[in-house]
Amino acid sequence: MADFMQAANQAYYAKADPLGVDGDFITAPEISQMFGELIGLWLTDLWIRAGRPNNCHYVELGPGRGTLAADALRAMQQFGFAPPVCFVETSELLKAKQSRAVPGARFVAGVDELPFDVPLLVIANEFFDVLPVRQLVSTHAGWRERVVVRDRGAKFMATPGMHAMDEMVPTEFRNAPSPTIYETCPAASTIMYELAGRVASQGGAMLIADYGYTMPGIGSTLQAVKGHQYADPFENPGEQDLTAHVNFVELANLARMRHLRVSGPVEQGGWLTALGIGARAEALIAGQPERAAEIAAARERLVDSAGMGSLFKMLGVTNMDWPEPEGFEIDQHLG
Ligand code: SAH
Repeated sequence: MADFMQAANQAYYAKADPLGVDGDFITAPEISQMFGELIGLWLTDLWIRAGRPNNCHYVELGPGRGTLAADALRAMQQFGFAPPVCFVETSELLKAKQSRAVPGARFVAGVDELPFDVPLLVIANEFFDVLPVRQLVSTHAGWRERVVVRDRGAKFMATPGMHAMDEMVPTEFRNAPSPTIYETCPAASTIMYELAGRVASQGGAMLIADYGYTMPGIGSTLQAVKGHQYADPFENPGEQDLTAHVNFVELANLARMRHLRVSGPVEQGGWLTALGIGARAEALIAGQPERAAEIAAARERLVDSAGMGSLFKMLGVTNMDWPEPEGFEIDQHLG
């Protein structure tokens, strides 16, 4: 399953820019500049209260078109904060777009290539959800890995593999009735553990924004999106976006293992509201009254439960010697 998802997504992101109204899906930074700006202010506030260390790097994982970074860096610059920028990206096509959005950005292919001697301020919006998942399924013969095969018509499909996998399933789920699916994302865990270790030893913070779950659970969350519609994940590999919900419990636990401070996860809507998206929307409207309806609608889509406000979560992770981050002191603390 993980090999299938990895190969399909690599082909997908190499081939075309999937973002935006004309693409397959739209993300928060593409909805409004307010999203990236507030993230930039969140980082600036942390940096100021940390005593303005002069060697911080801005790091973004899977920056898409570079829109979030461009908006964040513009907001940061207004406060005299202009860190070097490092993007973790694998798609050549999107790297070209990111270079245009943020001239001077440096690219690395993996988090292990990030500089070792400076505090890292790491942003990941809708990055962890594209990483390949592994799935185990309970059968009458015990737990098996879900593997992807082709049926006689050459269509891809998932089927239980041959080897016993019971040992890999946490004991609390092991007696689940057949067929129950237990999902993990080893790539997400590896990246989180590495980055959390870097933030612990080098200083800095991480902000993860994604849709995901905040309690341990079972079931498949694998989904495909094509042209703003859900599709069969096993059809047309490389032609549609394959994602899985992010396991925020796991990401937070890995940060705790590295002795970092964990803030959240909280819902995106509450976080953006706490950081002042209302005031930012009003200021933008005052400057461009003719765009009032569009700006108000974008704010609503980012904040309201009917839009992205509840489905998407924010997780903040900070080095213990750094100040506590803003935006997480809200009621609906999850998990
Ligand atoms: N953060 C952007 C784009 C999200 S789409 C936004 O919010 O608009 C996912 C991004 O992750 C794309 O830029 C894609 O090319 C990148 N990506 C996917 N797999 C990756 C991997 N294994 N390593 C680095 N980047 C990856």
